[in-house]
Amino acid sequence: MCAAGRGRSADRPGMEYPMADTIYDAAIIGGGPAGYTAAIRGAELGLKIALIDNAPKLGGTCLHVGCIPTKALLFNAELWDHLKNAAEFGIKLGEGIAPELDWAAVLTRKNSIITKHVKGLEFLMKKHKITVIAGSGRITGPAQGGIHTVDVTANAGEASQVKAKNVVLATGSSAKMLPGLQADSTILTNIEILSIDRVPKSLIVIGAGAVGVEFSSIFRSFGTEVTILEFLPRAIPVEDEEISKELTRVFKKRGIDVNIGAKVEKVEKTETGVRVSYTDSNGKPQVKEAEKVLVAVGRAGRTENIGLEKTKIELERGLIKVNAEQQTAEPGIYAIGDIVFGLPQLAHVGAMAGLVTMAKIAGAKFRPINRERIPSCTYSEPQVGSVGLTEAQAKEKGYEVKVGKFPFGGNSKATIVGSHDGFVKIVSDVKYGEILGVHIIGPQATELIAEAVAVLELEGTVEEMMYTIHAHPTLSESLLDAYGAVQGMAINA
Ligand SMILES: Cc1cc2nc3c(=O)[nH]c(=O)nc-3n(C[C@H](O)[C@H](O)[C@H](O)COP(=O)(O)OP(=O)(O)OC[C@H]3O[C@@H](n4cnc5c(N)ncnc54)[C@H](O)[C@@H]3O)c2cc1C
Repeated sequence: MCAAGRGRSADRPGMEYPMADTIYDAAIIGGGPAGYTAAIRGAELGLKIALIDNAPKLGGTCLHVGCIPTKALLFNAELWDHLKNAAEFGIKLGEGIAPELDWAAVLTRKNSIITKHVKGLEFLMKKHKITVIAGSGRITGPAQGGIHTVDVTANAGEASQVKAKNVVLATGSSAKMLPGLQADSTILTNIEILSIDRVPKSLIVIGAGAVGVEFSSIFRSFGTEVTILEFLPRAIPVEDEEISKELTRVFKKRGIDVNIGAKVEKVEKTETGVRVSYTDSNGKPQVKEAEKVLVAVGRAGRTENIGLEKTKIELERGLIKVNAEQQTAEPGIYAIGDIVFGLPQLAHVGAMAGLVTMAKIAGAKFRPINRERIPSCTYSEPQVGSVGLTEAQAKEKGYEVKVGKFPFGGNSKATIVGSHDGFVKIVSDVKYGEILGVHIIGPQATELIAEAVAVLELEGTVEEMMYTIHAHPTLSESLLDAYGAVQGMAINA
């Protein structure tokens, strides 16, 4: 029963049991980036918020086994790549002294970054007087007299209920597994691979979406022999086709064995690791062995056991359907983050959906998420950043398209940082010169894309951007040259 009013902290620091007589303005189920961002904005807007999360610590996939740990490892990988080429930069490591990778220390640093941010989140919850409840939340059905009831099973097993005028579902996603397989110390998902005890000699990565590509990049930098098997005809298939091609080219140059159009038939464990049988793009059966295999074939929304069956909430491909204001078909129940159908499963999308939802609940002003203004980033080496329409999408939508491309080979800052692979591609419409999409592959692409997001938000044109001053020498000048290239007038190429 309800442990209300005990006034003691529950299973983890900063946690409370819900007060039986409190009616919250919103009960949020899930404390990942979607849920905790919504909670903070709700409190900022003066709402009384309960945040229910069943993980040992707040932060969700993103903080514990997603965005943050992978980017920490990618930064290590980048440093390591520079060290391997230290001589090129005039840095001698000493006669006969080779740099040595301390993998345990790499993992310790990654974990300390997570811990720091968990503490930050706990501080923010207290600062905003958000009631954080450690347990699994489940909606009980439609609101009764305008009040929803959420059943909570505390992580320690005790049951209680939370009452709220609105409920926000933010339970996130888990890695999909291939049929018949279970994750362990050889067959890995994003969770296990982030704490393996040593760098594997060889790794097969099934799936060349952002997750598969990032781990391939990390472990290749650390010396692993990496094989990618991707079922679709190209890597990072949501990106512009030319970006996929360039990534594949650079990955191959880095020694990554990229196999597209490869259909995995069987994954078997062996004495030394794993054997993967697949059909290649020519229809020929192939077998590849490795020490470990990473399964990175997409993410399934956590929509089970949260009480959806008792509501009007509709699912599509296992994800929750919402309108532009994040409302589900059940009045007073919203959904945000990775469980939502029709939006990319990205932390910044979930977080923005949380902001939209809370403004809607509080009756404040907001703008719904615009699908065509969402930056998409892959933090591999080379990095990829894009926003807006690909060339193919723009043509499909009936635009008369004009493209400008500028290679980083012509950019002086790219020479300084020793990174000439990749290019900037601008997709614009002929009629008004409006910039419809920007696609970057190369150094700091994930940072450079911020300019393009703002340009698209402000409906900027090629001409406006050709006369927008970019500081010299910067990587961002490659954007200036790419805008110019649309009119055949790049300066440095
Ligand atoms: C390896 C990897 C790298 C990634 N890198 C990036 C990146 O660089 N940038 C980016 O934008 N995105 C990245 N992502 C995606 C990003 O992690 C997700 O989009 C994001 O975490 C989704 O946030 P969320 O709040 O919807 O769900 P989650 O982060 O999954 O959080 C959901 C929370 O809800 C809890 N929960 C589940 N069910 C219940 C319940 N019934 N009751 C209470 N609590 C519950 C879970 O325990 C969890 O704490 C990456 C993902 C992976 C796997």
